[in-house]
Amino acid sequence: MLIKSARFIISNTDTTKCPQNLIPEYAFIGRSNVGKSSLINSICNIKNLAKTSSRPGKTQLINHFLINENWCLVDLPGYGYARVSKTQKKIFQSFITDYLKNRSQLINAFLLIDIRLEPQPIDLSFMKWLGKNLIPFSIVFTKADKLKPKVIGRNVKDYIDKMLSSHWEEIPHIFITSSLHNSGGKEILTYIDKLNSNYSEKSFN
Ligand code: GDP
Repeated sequence: MLIKSARFIISNTDTTKCPQNLIPEYAFIGRSNVGKSSLINSICNIKNLAKTSSRPGKTQLINHFLINENWCLVDLPGYGYARVSKTQKKIFQSFITDYLKNRSQLINAFLLIDIRLEPQPIDLSFMKWLGKNLIPFSIVFTKADKLKPKVIGRNVKDYIDKMLSSHWEEIPHIFITSSLHNSGGKEILTYIDKLNSNYSEKSFN
């Protein structure tokens, strides 16, 4: 898929105020500082579409971007950052979970994970929550440029082993990306393209 247009539509903290159309949506989520804004900018090939920030936990809104006039990329707030106060954390957690559970247009969530880190409890428990709530998701490893291919392979395997040992029967789609090298984004877009075609076939049948 080529990105012909990408524009910001709306930010809010309330799922009911999200765009009222049936355009398919893809959410991007991960721990603060995982490289989400950089990846969104790299995928869309626009430098400042999503803001990259040196202060993690800053963007605590559901941000809708319309891509190619036919699907939405949804930038969700980063989770798990200590500097966000407990009450604030609770608020954004409930609106994130509310969005993920209730947004019928949501086709897939891309869960971003820093490839350098060993499996983090917060990410594993978030995956578990997604699974329990039957929310389709893929894993997107970020910052792959920071590691050698052999280590990347080992770290991905660690994740898969950890998931299989915690009763996952099926491993989600996995993408390995680097925003610095602009790699992996094309594969994500091809996957979205495929899901979009399934979605429109379903809508017209
Ligand atoms: P966000 O908080 O998840 O939106 O993360 P950002 O996109 O703001 O990135 C957090 C930090 O990681 C910034 O210093 C980025 O420059 C850096 N970063 C993001 N993606 C990559 C990547 O693919 N490779 C490298 N080496 N650094 C990255």
